[in-house]
Amino acid sequence: MQVSRVAEVIVETGGISMQKSLHYKIPEEMQSDNLVGSRVLIPLGNRQASGFVVGLAEDTSVDRKLKSIIKLLDQEPVLTKEQLRIARWISGYYFSSPQRTLQAIAHPVLNKTRSCREKHYYVNFSIEELNRVTREIRRAPKQVAVLNTTARSPGLTKKQLSEKACVSYTVIDTLISKGYLYFKEVMSDVNSTSYISPVKPELTGEQAKVVKNINFYLQKNVHKVFLLHGVTGSGKTEVYLRCIDCALQLKKSAIVLVPEISLTPQMIRCFKERLGNRVALLHSRMSKGERYEEWNRISQGHADVILGTRSAIFSPVNNLGIIVIDEEHEFTYKQGESPRYHARAVALYRAYVNSAAVVLGSATPSLESYCRAKDKGPYTLLKMDNRVDNIALPFVKVVDMRKEFSSGNKAIFGSELFNAVNKRLEDNEQVILFLNRRGFNTFVVCRECGMVLKCPNCDISLTYHHQGDLRCHYCNYSQMAPSLCPGCRSKYIGYFGTGTQKVEKEAKDLFPQARIIRMDADTTGRKGAHYRILKDFEERKADILIGTQMVAKGLNFSGVTLVGIISADTGLYIPDFRSAERTFQLITQVAGRSGRAKSGGEVIVQTFNPEHYAVTAAAAGDYEGFFKEEMNVRKEMQYPPYSRMIRLLFFGKDENKVNSLAEAAFKILQGYINEDKGIIAVGPSPAPLTRVRGNYRLHIVLWSKDEEILRDAVKKTYDYCVKSVGTGKNAGISVDVDPYSMI
Ligand code: ADP
Ligand code: ZN
Ligand code: ZN
Repeated sequence: MQVSRVAEVIVETGGISMQKSLHYKIPEEMQSDNLVGSRVLIPLGNRQASGFVVGLAEDTSVDRKLKSIIKLLDQEPVLTKEQLRIARWISGYYFSSPQRTLQAIAHPVLNKTRSCREKHYYVNFSIEELNRVTREIRRAPKQVAVLNTTARSPGLTKKQLSEKACVSYTVIDTLISKGYLYFKEVMSDVNSTSYISPVKPELTGEQAKVVKNINFYLQKNVHKVFLLHGVTGSGKTEVYLRCIDCALQLKKSAIVLVPEISLTPQMIRCFKERLGNRVALLHSRMSKGERYEEWNRISQGHADVILGTRSAIFSPVNNLGIIVIDEEHEFTYKQGESPRYHARAVALYRAYVNSAAVVLGSATPSLESYCRAKDKGPYTLLKMDNRVDNIALPFVKVVDMRKEFSSGNKAIFGSELFNAVNKRLEDNEQVILFLNRRGFNTFVVCRECGMVLKCPNCDISLTYHHQGDLRCHYCNYSQMAPSLCPGCRSKYIGYFGTGTQKVEKEAKDLFPQARIIRMDADTTGRKGAHYRILKDFEERKADILIGTQMVAKGLNFSGVTLVGIISADTGLYIPDFRSAERTFQLITQVAGRSGRAKSGGEVIVQTFNPEHYAVTAAAAGDYEGFFKEEMNVRKEMQYPPYSRMIRLLFFGKDENKVNSLAEAAFKILQGYINEDKGIIAVGPSPAPLTRVRGNYRLHIVLWSKDEEILRDAVKKTYDYCVKSVGTGKNAGISVDVDPYSMI
């Protein structure tokens, strides 16, 4: 019997109906050792398509008329064996299409750009002449700033230079044309300006203990997961660095994940100074060329510490020893589109495969992680309860806005916050005003008693739909919006929502003497704007910074002594079972911003729900207390972490088709529910965002204690839908495993 080698190929452009790999003959002249992980051109029907070779197989059926691969598309494989393995796991676990998953993982290689040349700037005179030259152009302070910056840090790129000197590109161009500056063109190297500083601070007692514990297991080469629960300012970054040191000494590599928002220039500098060029950076603000360069440095072994956001978990490192996930509770680790993976879950899998350690760090761990670390859970709990500098956590004051309201103050600023801001302005200190807003605020709240209307079945906030209809987006329960509060009969029940612009306007009226800057999606649209606003604030060019989540973490401002949370409970109204958890995390994180100054800080939290445990526990800095209360609520409703949840989203232009697809899907699930297999399924209900880009959206939310049965039910439903949808474009289904957004 003749045995021939065939390639298993995932077609790149395949739609939802092309989930499985196809077999192709490998032409004789083609080397098969470099084939797995490469892209190839293949015949498909009467056209040609590109595809990923995901494996080799032996084909024994000689007479089957297999077609041959036409040609290789890449000189080198675009995916490593380990990445293929991760892809397989992700598509299996998240029900994501293999092609989308492979594309997401190989993204930096597939989107490489040819030219990676960039210009590095230098001054055209010696450093001794700096004073003379700057005197010549002293009437142009921006130009002076550029020359000073360039003389001190030669070799910056235009972007770096303009950010550092806070000037626009035209100032740099002017200096070039005047002959003060010149540039050299070099291959892009994101690491151009790093130098290594060997100085390490002496560890605090708490840090030393934690480092010793982690490194002990690191040296033993066993897969182990640590949850580092450390208050803000307890020095978690230093712990990460010491564990990475240990891994590097063992000739192993490290991946450090941070949320986009905390990958600040300070953080990057910190890593570069300590570890130099072996650090590779990966984040969304880099150009495609930069990302490709970094990817190459990693796969060639030139960089073995990878610092990046979510997708850096896919980087082609060899011999992985440790994965650090900072702020492990952050929702940005979950990808919102297919493949809807959670970087923490991928990290756990990848570390398991490599017998590597995982360190999950947070001041406010996710409930999922904490309950796995508590008692004798599979994770090891490590605690750091004190700040490095021993400065007490700030004093948090909760202000009851219901009292403000009934005493006639219907403004955004309660009198307490108003007085406190005034005092800081008088004392020449800085203030941050924080607004928790996630773009979705059609909730209903009573401003007299703070009551939030919730679904009687699901304990989820009801959302205002249309024409006075309040609806639960889990189970589709609906009722008319009441005109009087069911709690206190007040007529002040209605929409509530405040934007940053509104806060800014009121602040300008109340504090005409203050310099105010606002940071939100509107003001940070332009590249670098985010950085500039923060720099201005740091340099005290403003007294009050008003912002959303963006100001909540990763920043240290010594001038800030007051943080005001305008409306702490906005998060409580989000139609999501994690709303209390989000609220607790946000208040805690924001409070951590204040009081880093020596003079001690104060936090004022305005709320209509001063008794809510998320608010009181955050104000008291009591994680354990919050955890206990919230676990009770989750247990009652059987929400995660007491169960696993999966959301099925149905969408399409044709409303009827979408409806009938969702109904048919629910029928299949009904079988599981009726047989009492422990699955809870609610819906189909209109998703909170009912229409997105012309697509009508419905969802079914499922949860169960038994992960196996849940997955089985979803698999059957999904396969059915895929088959019945076929290649039609009128309706589609997508699966979200462990969903983080129900919008
Ligand atoms: P966390 O991430 O836990 O909120 P950071 O890692 O930002 O805390 O550390 C807070 C501050 O303490 C940083 O400015 C850091 O440089 C400093 N720091 C950390 N460890 C030490 C140490 N052992 N000695 C002195 N300073 C330290
Ligand atoms: Zn009321
Ligand atoms: Zn409900």
